Amino acid sequence: LPGLMQDFQLTTNAVLQHAKNFHGDREIVTNTVEGPKHRYTYADLEKRAGILAHCLRENFDVKPGDIIGTMAWNTYRHMEIWYAVMGIEAVVHTLNPRLFPDQLSYIANHAGDKMLFFDFDLTELVEKELAPRFDTIQNYIIMTDKKTMPRHYSLPSTHCYEDLLAATSSKAYPFPWPEINEQAACALCYTSGTTGNPKGVLYSHRSQVLIGIMCCTPACFGLGAMDTMLPVVPMFHANAWAIVFAGPISGCKLALPGSRLDGPTLHNFFESEGVTCTAAVPTVWLALLQHLKETKSKLTTLNRVVIGGSACPPAVLEAFENVYGVEVRHAWGMTELSPIGTVFTMTPTEAGKNPEEQMAAKLKQGRPIFGVEMKITDDDGKELPRDGKSFGHLMVRGPMTVKEYMRADGGKLLDEEGWFDTGDVAVLEPEGLMRITDRSKDVIKSGGEWISSIEIENEAVGHPQVAEAAVIGVQHPKWGERPLLVVVKEPNASITKEDVLAFLVGRIAKWWMPDDVVFAESIPHTATGKIAKKALREQFEKYTFP
Ligand code: ADP
Repeated sequence: LPGLMQDFQLTTNAVLQHAKNFHGDREIVTNTVEGPKHRYTYADLEKRAGILAHCLRENFDVKPGDIIGTMAWNTYRHMEIWYAVMGIEAVVHTLNPRLFPDQLSYIANHAGDKMLFFDFDLTELVEKELAPRFDTIQNYIIMTDKKTMPRHYSLPSTHCYEDLLAATSSKAYPFPWPEINEQAACALCYTSGTTGNPKGVLYSHRSQVLIGIMCCTPACFGLGAMDTMLPVVPMFHANAWAIVFAGPISGCKLALPGSRLDGPTLHNFFESEGVTCTAAVPTVWLALLQHLKETKSKLTTLNRVVIGGSACPPAVLEAFENVYGVEVRHAWGMTELSPIGTVFTMTPTEAGKNPEEQMAAKLKQGRPIFGVEMKITDDDGKELPRDGKSFGHLMVRGPMTVKEYMRADGGKLLDEEGWFDTGDVAVLEPEGLMRITDRSKDVIKSGGEWISSIEIENEAVGHPQVAEAAVIGVQHPKWGERPLLVVVKEPNASITKEDVLAFLVGRIAKWWMPDDVVFAESIPHTATGKIAKKALREQFEKYTFP
């Protein structure tokens, strides 16, 4: 029996109209790449996105399905481009400027980007490194005004963003946003491709609106109109974890940080705009906490911080919660999941535990948000129990999960029942929490048993003199592989190998104890701030245990 409700399409246009009509006066404040702060409202966003949408159609012949690249920081202009491009059924393709030029050109060429919007501070990179390698880009738009336009540029067909808008405005408003099918593509994001070439995840309007709604729920980031949200996580890193949609859906004020993500600048921005909620990868928080400690500063308005992208170090959790009184929401996700998979938020089960047990629970990756089904399996695909002990391949499915990569790269992605293998190894607990124990490529196979590199790392960074720790598997004649712990010391630390190992006793299983500890100046990171295990393994390719 068919239901008798309307066939309303979930599109980014609906999100934008909602914000304009019902939260039209809420602010979007940007720390601009040019320097000064810029402030306007959701109503202004809708107006300027409409003008841009008109310009894209008229001046650049942008059609449904065209792929439009952006290489830009979190700013109001970047938001306008998103809503304009998606709103005329074209697709925004975010490029991460921290990737290598070869990866960037591979990605843009693979996607077939038609034009590229970029922030003016990236001009040299685009001009010298990228443009010569791009095959399909016909127009370059520098996201600034005439005053800041770089004087010298050799790119073909370059335009100044504000000039384009100024030349369009009189005839374009109000823009007649088209009806779009919610299954149409709206955004494209490539995974960083730790194995093989990067692969494109092509989001639909429906998946983005759904994740935006989920993001607002109390089980996720819990955004409401009383909040001021500062997404430090860039829009090119898995769509800023859906915040660009959750903002207009909830009517929260947005504080967009531009290109300066250092501790002092962020702290200043938090305090001056009354930020209540924020989100980023752990490395950003390490820098902020360091700054707060050095300057003996406080966080007077922030009440929750979302930490994800890699495991939240215990010291970061403790500092936020115990020193600064800020609730930590540890989240796990991936580009393929739109990208939020699980978030830790308090339930009566955890609330009834003692503080130590609560902290331990918060270091786990949390519970799936609605719309993310989850199970773990063994190597043969057999489901493993949710007993808090068994660990296996983490499989997910749902309306915000990828079905197939762009241009069918990698072939068939899902199993017969629609499960997607995340490439992570995890434990599921009877109370519903999930705990990542490794990437399946990084898990250490010792004598046929699995050792979790992440769990050893988490414990090792708990040592007050350890700044960062990474564990990799190294060939071993008897066991196949054994763990090697690489440690970066805190400045002025005086610890020895023996101290580190002694610290781990009782914290990890005996047979997980690293066979050796080496001290390093630094540990390599990926473009999204994660420990680059592959690079680290290459660095220690010739290493043998003593
Ligand atoms: P990229 O490699 O481009 O950053 P993703 O952001 O999609 O791609 O990375 C997703 C991966 O990051 C996950 O599969 C997982 O291995 C890791 N990850 C994300 N969040 C966490 C977390 N809270 N704890 C541990 N690992 C995490």
